[in-house]
Amino acid sequence: MRQVRSYLRDSWVSGQEPSTPLYDAGTGELFAQTSTRGLDLAAALAHSRAVGGPALRKMTFAERGDLLRQWSEILHGARDELIELARMNSGNTRSDAKFDIDGASGTLAFYASLGKKLGDRTWLLDGPTEPILRSSRFVGQHLLLPRGGVAIHINAFNFPAWGLAEKAAVAILAGMPVFAKPATSTAAVTARIVELWAEAGAIPSGVLSLLSGSAGDLLEHVGALDAIAFTGSGDTGRMIRGHHRVLEWNVPVNVEADSLNAAILGPDVEPGSDTFQMFVSDVAKDMTQKAGQKCTAIRRILVPVDLVDAATEALVDRLSQAVIGDPDARATTVGPLATASQQRDILAGIRELSQSAKLVWRAEAVPEKGYFVAPHLFRTDDGLSATFVNDREVFGPVATILTWSGAASEAVDLLARGGGGLVSSLYTDDVDFAREVLLGAAGWHGRLVWGSKKIADQSFGPGTVLPGFVHGGPGKAGGGEELGGERGMRFYMHRTAIQGDRALLERAFGGLGTAQS
Ligand code: NAP
Repeated sequence: MRQVRSYLRDSWVSGQEPSTPLYDAGTGELFAQTSTRGLDLAAALAHSRAVGGPALRKMTFAERGDLLRQWSEILHGARDELIELARMNSGNTRSDAKFDIDGASGTLAFYASLGKKLGDRTWLLDGPTEPILRSSRFVGQHLLLPRGGVAIHINAFNFPAWGLAEKAAVAILAGMPVFAKPATSTAAVTARIVELWAEAGAIPSGVLSLLSGSAGDLLEHVGALDAIAFTGSGDTGRMIRGHHRVLEWNVPVNVEADSLNAAILGPDVEPGSDTFQMFVSDVAKDMTQKAGQKCTAIRRILVPVDLVDAATEALVDRLSQAVIGDPDARATTVGPLATASQQRDILAGIRELSQSAKLVWRAEAVPEKGYFVAPHLFRTDDGLSATFVNDREVFGPVATILTWSGAASEAVDLLARGGGGLVSSLYTDDVDFAREVLLGAAGWHGRLVWGSKKIADQSFGPGTVLPGFVHGGPGKAGGGEELGGERGMRFYMHRTAIQGDRALLERAFGGLGTAQS
């Protein structure tokens, strides 16, 4: 039986029995187990703070970037092995696994390049020097320095590779050691990646720790200079934010949570046009890729009432081409969900959705063995007053068409009705309509994608999170923000204003900020 181990204090360890079983999502058969019971998490965090932190803070951005480049190359080199493991552990089709694994190596490579660009420094200047008195000698300069604790990363089950990499890349480039805790159910993929890095001698002492399973008493050992980045459900996010240690030590917490992402078809779009096809293909992709288990997947499809027949027909036509089944088979486009409990939750969500919306289409021929759920497309004409569809995310291959009048202001109200989202996409070639929707919806979203005929052949859909752009959203989406190049690093850095003599400061820090820096 494969034992999924944790990497603490530079060693591979397992917790005490009883272990938690991990199942092959495609067959429901037991394939691995893990336990974190009794592991000394206080000592592990202390080691990261005492050894990993100081080592990273001495490294320049270029050196930290070089470490990330090694991680990216090692991960890419083991792509085939990881794809096979993701098939078993997460039920990923080959293409779904590639999305996760290539996203991870790509994000690491992006931050490696950023490190090279930031060069031989160990801190960032924040803005220009500012005079304090009339004379130009006494000045102040804001500096951004790595926080002195550990970056604790608690991740969701759906991106075991990318989730690890996207958080670790940013924290390590900023100069913080990482303590990664993947979701128990899909920890095998994450653990294998860390194993590959450790085997290659690419983890400096204390720089990366891994807890492959339940968090246990982890939060009881959080300290003043630590930072927590969490991805998962809103309920767990609230629990972490409200934890007594987090409150007592004012530990910053970044939350990426639920999101009722929308796609809006503009009233100007002709059925069959490039913009229309782009809309159809983005919606169908988001409903089927990773069996709909992407935080960025489209859940609400806003279609003007005049276009609803054409849009429904085109969507059903495209969705009907999906092949649901064995994730190992080349022809399969929709694999199972990651776990039995996900399957139960999504089937319950579908039952609730059926009470408030009309079923338009569902896939046939879904395997009985394994954690499969048939893709479902619903429709409601209740707009803002539709309850379940605007309030609850069904985290699977499920989406609902909401009809609306075609007025931009109504689209904005419907977008806002989701209560804050990660990303929404708009499909229109009408600039005035687009401007009104984008400006009206921006405050409710971390990211907006404007699909038009100009980029119809270039876009990979709103569901792909890019390392140079922010990922996160207000309200229900957690109120967090990750990635975005240098922007994401600021969460892991502390801003200090240093006041003194300009010439001495310049000598101490090898140059100060100018209006341009
Ligand atoms: P979850 O139950 O909240 O779990 C997320 C993570 O939190 C897991 O690692 C889990 O560990 C951990 N956790 C649970 N209880 C904890 C505790 N008491 N202390 C510390 N850690 C704890 O969410 P999920 O079911 O895995 O994920 C599904 C949800 O995540 C969906 O609602 C989806 O919207 C959201 N999501 C959001 C994003 C985003 O970027 N915004 C991305 C992906 C998913 P265990 O596995 O060991 O319980």
